[in-house]
Amino acid sequence: MRVLLTGGAGYIGSHTLVELLALGHQVCVVDNYANSAPEALTRVRQISNRDFRVEEGDIRDRDRLTAIFTDFRPEAVIHFAGLKAVGEGEEKPVAYYDTNVTGTLVLLEAMRASGCGKIIFSSSATVYGNPLYLPYDEAHPCSPTNVYGRTKYMAEQVLADWVRANPGTGAVLLRYFNPVGAHVSGRIGEDPQGIPNNLLPFIAQVAVGRRAKLAIFGDDYDTRDGTGLRDYIHVADLARAHALALDYAADHTGTEVFNIGTGTGTTVKEMLAAFERACGHALAYEVVARRPGDIAACYAQPEKAERLLGWSATRDLDDMCASAWKWQSENPQGYRSEE
Ligand code: NAD
Ligand code: UDP
Repeated sequence: MRVLLTGGAGYIGSHTLVELLALGHQVCVVDNYANSAPEALTRVRQISNRDFRVEEGDIRDRDRLTAIFTDFRPEAVIHFAGLKAVGEGEEKPVAYYDTNVTGTLVLLEAMRASGCGKIIFSSSATVYGNPLYLPYDEAHPCSPTNVYGRTKYMAEQVLADWVRANPGTGAVLLRYFNPVGAHVSGRIGEDPQGIPNNLLPFIAQVAVGRRAKLAIFGDDYDTRDGTGLRDYIHVADLARAHALALDYAADHTGTEVFNIGTGTGTTVKEMLAAFERACGHALAYEVVARRPGDIAACYAQPEKAERLLGWSATRDLDDMCASAWKWQSENPQGYRSEE
């Protein structure tokens, strides 16, 4: 299939690209490198020994995007491009709405211009907001509690309305839980700029000596050990979910929402212990105050993805930590390590 990936140079996009190339898809990546590096794509070429097209460009640039679409004529789009830092979204709401919502609108125009009617969208468990019950299933009401979550939920609604108005089109909305880990080769992985917001990249940077210790944001939550509990999903399992979603979209019209998680929760302390096993040494930490806006626990009911996509997670916590450690220890400065 001819597949266009917006944001394909990013963390999840690059891992999905490896998966799609292995399956023989023809791929075009559109990325402005706002939060990624062309080096990631060079490495994907090396890992997969396959070539693909790359267009440097901003998804909000109508003329450029339409030109790329009418030339490449994708049969489906996987829409990863977006801004994703929850804290930054509170400070720069307009930038977040612009990229995540306006960017999606411009993308739909380019799809219409080129006759492309199928889209897979990177959504997030953040759209659910505070849990009314756990695990979250796809019918759980959506009430996002931050700007980032609202931009994702708005983009979901835009896509669902577009599909309703255009018979024959289809959207698969994937609500990711907490993607972590790296490709087994250790050549591509998560490369956050500045101080990592997320737990696993922070732990990995402590393990490699870039940071002194982990700050655990609260140990008085109502969980097994008092620390926050999340549903961590290996990025390679997540990549496979996109390949299966493409097959599903090819055969179905309408909008379908899927949770992409393992269904199992892990606490901060359990994750720290798993990473210590992977890297082979103890990691320093201190418990500090809760992070504003955090919830105690968040995990998925992933049964629908298994039933309709034939997808379930196959990699465990040790696989996640071992691959993250391989990537971090072999690339201590991420993609800048080789410069
Ligand atoms: P990422 O930042 O690594 O990848 C996003 C990519 O989009 C980057 O390569 C970036 O340069 C590109 N991009 C940003 N703005 C663009 C623009 N205007 N035009 C073209 N390209 C642009 O993030 P990721 O972790 O790979 O996430 C991919 C998607 O998944 C995002 O939409 C994110 O919101 C969503 N998501 C991520 C997580 C997570 O924890 N990583 C969880 C849930 C959902
Ligand atoms: N967390 C932490 N220290 C950090 C980063 C995260 O204790 O430096 C905790 C956070 O409070 C949450 C869990 O780790 O309980 C996962 O946080 P992350 O930001 O990775 O994901 P999210 O909260 O967005 O699900």
